[in-house]
Amino acid sequence: MTTTIPKEIAVATDTRNAQTPLDWGSAAACAGSVLSLFFSSGTSGMEKLATLRAKDICEGCPVRQKCLDWALDLEIEYGVYGGLDPRERERLVAREAAA
Ligand code: SF4
Repeated sequence: MTTTIPKEIAVATDTRNAQTPLDWGSAAACAGSVLSLFFSSGTSGMEKLATLRAKDICEGCPVRQKCLDWALDLEIEYGVYGGLDPRERERLVAREAAA
């Protein structure tokens, strides 16, 4: 079976390797980080720790808001972007829609 990497993940991969067409990608705090930290969607202790580590990296990122806006615009349903995991982004969108 062949696994195809979704376009959004491919773009995010580029972002995190500072080879992105996005103008803010080269300033990303996660450039060079281990990608699996940002795409750990499981519920085991190690997977949760990976997600927390990713969020820590985002915390000090100078392009955090741009990254979050980008993920929200593209409605990306996986991975940590702008310091938020998919469920947190979903709640943010729901709150903004209700406001
Ligand atoms: S906010 Fe997080 S995922 Fe987005 S560019 Fe910065 S460090 Fe990377």
